[in-house]
Amino acid sequence: MTRVSTQIPTLEQLHALNPVQQPTYADTDLLNRVTAELRKRPPLVFAGECDELRGKLADVAAGRAFILQGGDCAETFDTGTAIDIRGKLRVLLSMAVVLTYAAQVPVVKLGRLAGQYAKPRSNDTETRGGVVLPAYRGDAVNGLDFTEQSRRHDPNRLMEVYNHSAATLNLIRAFVTGGFADLRAVHSWNQDFVRNSGVEVRYESMADEIERALAFMVACGVDKEAFRTVDFYSSHEALVLPYEHAMTRIDSRTDTPYNTSAHMVWIGERTRQVDGAHVQFARHLRNPIGVKIGPSMTGDEVVALADALDPQHEPGRLTLISRMGAGKVRTALPPLVRAVEATGRSVAWVCDPMHGNTFETANGYKTRAFSQVVDEMNGFFDVHEELGTWPGGVHMELTGDDVTECVGGVADALAEADLPNRYETACDPRLNRNQSLELAFLIAERLTD
Ligand code: PEP
Ligand code: MN
Repeated sequence: MTRVSTQIPTLEQLHALNPVQQPTYADTDLLNRVTAELRKRPPLVFAGECDELRGKLADVAAGRAFILQGGDCAETFDTGTAIDIRGKLRVLLSMAVVLTYAAQVPVVKLGRLAGQYAKPRSNDTETRGGVVLPAYRGDAVNGLDFTEQSRRHDPNRLMEVYNHSAATLNLIRAFVTGGFADLRAVHSWNQDFVRNSGVEVRYESMADEIERALAFMVACGVDKEAFRTVDFYSSHEALVLPYEHAMTRIDSRTDTPYNTSAHMVWIGERTRQVDGAHVQFARHLRNPIGVKIGPSMTGDEVVALADALDPQHEPGRLTLISRMGAGKVRTALPPLVRAVEATGRSVAWVCDPMHGNTFETANGYKTRAFSQVVDEMNGFFDVHEELGTWPGGVHMELTGDDVTECVGGVADALAEADLPNRYETACDPRLNRNQSLELAFLIAERLTD
């Protein structure tokens, strides 16, 4: 059995802190059996890879790299097929090429993938037609079907999380090293998008420039191998503590604890209390840590969080992911950036333009407007431009499919009435492939300003 340091609080100690957003399991013996089994399973990622990622995030914090983090709001066991994973990877790699060219710095590619199976919820229950059942908390906890049986919190699902994460990560590793990520192929997908999406006039010249840059590099004899593979890292919200704790191992090289369920984990807006169990757990991990910060956050609070999670002022350790909403980002973000920068530490600032812009349509769909997503992203760039800090990246909910979950976009111009056509998300609405690529070109315009 793998050792876990006494430095990491035990699960019992974490539960004594009354963690929020946790499953309630009727059968604790079963939970203990599942977590004991998980502790014996091989790690999904290696400590050295987490260190490598921390180094790249240090470059982001220093203004020498840009983060692209994205994937489903909630992965599900059913939809994690090869085609689905390939589609998400394809759109992320497509976006990364555009951003790399525009920013002229490396783009750190992070999937909301291979572990994003648990969701915090605003309400513990859901009511339909007078029937009240526990809310869906992600496939890690219960099922999406609205039946008593499916909504029961089942510890066996944590083993499924491990198995699906392992299979997803295995396929991603094969794709990114096995030729799928070839830069020339990715660029040709982007050219198809530009040609067929109705945005060709705006983006044609950038696509042509990338084409010429590629041809130039090939003509110069630049190592073609470097075109063929990319680094790709996994990340998810560290929410369900029994799972995250069971996947935490002591690295034999350094004798320090790593959460081996993902390269990076983040703490959500609802679980970021500085004395709460999630922060008290994450502060001991050597993985790079993200924290979502919303509009209610104060400068003192963000500094207290940074002190807890990054006491050594270590570049690359901490990524602050702001999710303010388009209407608030320009006023709510600057005091937080100023407060953190005044401590002298170097963090990566990332924009999540999704979670502050969710609303419900008259026909009952949870959606986001592409225009508001773009507005928050632009607000984020404006704030950092004004303060002289580096806008370090973006955090998106997206998919490679042509779903109809967010309204707007030039290529698709989705209206509220289109939402029922392909509304497939298990939780929050995602940008579809065209909307994602369009956003990448818009971010590219800001990066080349
Ligand atoms: C999420 O990323 O899906 C999420 C719930 O975000 P937040 O914690 O920012 O609300
Ligand atoms: Mn979400």
